[in-house]
Amino acid sequence: MLELKHIKKYYYVGDSVTKALDDVSVSFRKQEFVAILGPSGSGKTTMLNGIGGLDIYDSGDLVINGKSTKDFSESDWDAYRNNSVGFIFQSYNIIGHLSIIDNVELGMTLSGVNADEKKRKAREALERVGLGPHINKKPNQLSGGQLQRVAIARAIANDPEILLCDEPTGALDTETSEEIMKLIKELSKERLVIMVTHNPTLAKEYADRIINFADGKILDDSNPFVEDTTKDNFELKKTKMTFWTALKLSFTNLKTKKARTALTAFASSIGIISIAIVLALSSGFQKQIDKTQGNTLAQFPVTISQTASKQTAPDTKVKSSNSKKVTAKLSQQEKSTHTNKLNKSYVNYIKKLDPELSKDITYNYSTGMNLLSKVDGKVKTAQFSNTSSSNSMSSMSAAMASSTGVGSSVYPSSNNNGTNFLKKHYKVISGSLPKSENDVVLIVDRDNSTNVNALKNIGMKVKDNQKLDFSKIVGQEFKVVSNNNYYKQVTAGLFTPNTDLASLYDNSDNKTLKISGILKVKSKSSENILSSGIAYSDKLTKDIVDTNKNSDIVTAQKNSDTNVLTGASVDDATTKESLVSYLGGSATPSSILIYPSTFKTKDKVLSYLDKYNKGKKTSDKVIYTDLAGQVSSLTGGLMDAITYVLVAFAGISLVTSMIMIGIITYTSVLERTKEIGILKALGARKKDVTRVFDAETTILGVSSGVLGILIAWLATFPINAILKGLTDLSGVAQLNPVHAIILIIISTILTVIGGHIPARMAARKDAATALRSE
Ligand code: ADP
Repeated sequence: MLELKHIKKYYYVGDSVTKALDDVSVSFRKQEFVAILGPSGSGKTTMLNGIGGLDIYDSGDLVINGKSTKDFSESDWDAYRNNSVGFIFQSYNIIGHLSIIDNVELGMTLSGVNADEKKRKAREALERVGLGPHINKKPNQLSGGQLQRVAIARAIANDPEILLCDEPTGALDTETSEEIMKLIKELSKERLVIMVTHNPTLAKEYADRIINFADGKILDDSNPFVEDTTKDNFELKKTKMTFWTALKLSFTNLKTKKARTALTAFASSIGIISIAIVLALSSGFQKQIDKTQGNTLAQFPVTISQTASKQTAPDTKVKSSNSKKVTAKLSQQEKSTHTNKLNKSYVNYIKKLDPELSKDITYNYSTGMNLLSKVDGKVKTAQFSNTSSSNSMSSMSAAMASSTGVGSSVYPSSNNNGTNFLKKHYKVISGSLPKSENDVVLIVDRDNSTNVNALKNIGMKVKDNQKLDFSKIVGQEFKVVSNNNYYKQVTAGLFTPNTDLASLYDNSDNKTLKISGILKVKSKSSENILSSGIAYSDKLTKDIVDTNKNSDIVTAQKNSDTNVLTGASVDDATTKESLVSYLGGSATPSSILIYPSTFKTKDKVLSYLDKYNKGKKTSDKVIYTDLAGQVSSLTGGLMDAITYVLVAFAGISLVTSMIMIGIITYTSVLERTKEIGILKALGARKKDVTRVFDAETTILGVSSGVLGILIAWLATFPINAILKGLTDLSGVAQLNPVHAIILIIISTILTVIGGHIPARMAARKDAATALRSE
């Protein structure tokens, strides 16, 4: 069934050539027990490995069942070893980390025999070799003779046609040797057994045929045979190891060196730990920054005032002049002052701003309010301002000051009557949020204090540091009197306020306002959004403008060159305009404040505002002020930069651990050389060997990734505690689950890559050499 035709196998080491097989021709019967005798180094093992397909001959031909192996591919050899050949070695070659039964099953595992059949065949084989009672022992609990029996069971489990034994009794005592020889003899009744030995006594006692070997040549053959080589009845079943089998093999192997595996996993998880912590910190800081930015935005809305300053570069090229004349020139500052036309079309443009971008827009009107309050039964004039003022004339300028710009006590009504805006920054400590524009609120600081002048201005008798009950404030009512009721014309073009306040107060035309509640600043960052004191909706001022814009006094002021209240002459248009607008005669806002929803949408708001200016004359352009942008454009980029640098550093440690995994896999390859040989002898393909090591690195990669994430997650707690102590920021380090999963995947991929190269090296190892290694 087996025929060697002029087989040659030379080994070249340096300049010397070893003719391990030198033109060997011999045939074997389908069933016989052949012993190959010869001195050490005569080429016996080389021939055996050649027959078994572990070591491929240089020239000649090996004919199996009439089939030439000249054109055998690697996988044909693998399949041949797996299907047709069983190996028994002097040093047993049992894989120590596998159980006895797993060792016996290994060949069948490689050829994909199903679990039940595998188990049954393995048990049968073990019983046949007399190991039935020891089936549950571990390899390291067996004697040498028993180990050799396991090896025999493994060799015959798949019922091969050829059994190749390389000095099977070489490591055994005489008595055990006899037992093993009897066993092999029995097995030879069903198949061809070729046994290499240097023990002529044993050979003579058991073998049917003895071939003497010397210097790579057959010296004599006790029972030669000539094969009829006409028939080709050779068939191969290809082997295939599943990744699952590879995982199982690697897992049991790793289990035997738990401490080392744990250390390796830990060491290689350090890269993951550092990246995870950097990411956790940076996303935590980013969140804090976003929060701060949001707060900054709340404090510094995009502001569009009637006057804005253009950003112009100072004129540095001033040339000295010898002219005998003086040039009249506007100052740089005056030149850069730009008057915005906040007319109806601009207001309409702002009103069309996507509410997604900003829900809170305040329209300020520089109108005064004819406000009356009744305290202890006495009616007094009042004003919603927190500047100290007692005479009515200065109240005019005070009202003008408080109704423009940042720090105003006017809140945007655009979003749900202003309640959303108020809720975001304030909490109600008494009363309720305003339900309509006729409800006003008192804003207090975090220490419950409010501006004393604000209270004085609404008619309360309070002293500095005096404490007031909430009930004294909440529910307080005011009357807003229309211009026509409030001002009396004294002579043509001169008006004076009505002095009969009591009857004015009771006029049925009046609008009644009420302090609906007291609101307290929620956090430090919300301070200064509205100044402490009375705050009211911008809708209220709009209502007042609507009531008064056609009043007698407004009409008179519009047509007069004097101040209709004082009689003083007014010669410039701006002053006149502000007088008209103070009296409620101007329907255009004095300023518009836009509070973008998030930091990101602010850019869209700005580009929307820029779009308005496109193609317009300079004088028609509207220039806004973006204080928040000036403050925070620095921080965002900085954080990104820091994160990149830190991630890069952490990345270096990740690469380091990848190299380490490579080294560890490499040592594992060295350590498991023998196992690679065994696997190959059992018919494992190159791919399968690679798989075993890839599986090992996969296990290592996944576990080091998981371990790294776990440690990083645990580390966030002390880190947060420390940061809380240092900076008062809580919960900064937060591990994003998505980052965690990605990092585990990266760890696995990197480790597999790091281990794959040594794994490929392992696969390329020559099986015969691997088996010779100790
Ligand atoms: P035996 O089994 O009879 O002791 P071997 O078949 O092991 O002999 O070896 C035959 C010869 O081939 C020896 O001289 C040995 O040194 C040589 N040899 C075997 N394998 C190799 C190898 N991989 N590289 C170089 N020389 C080898």
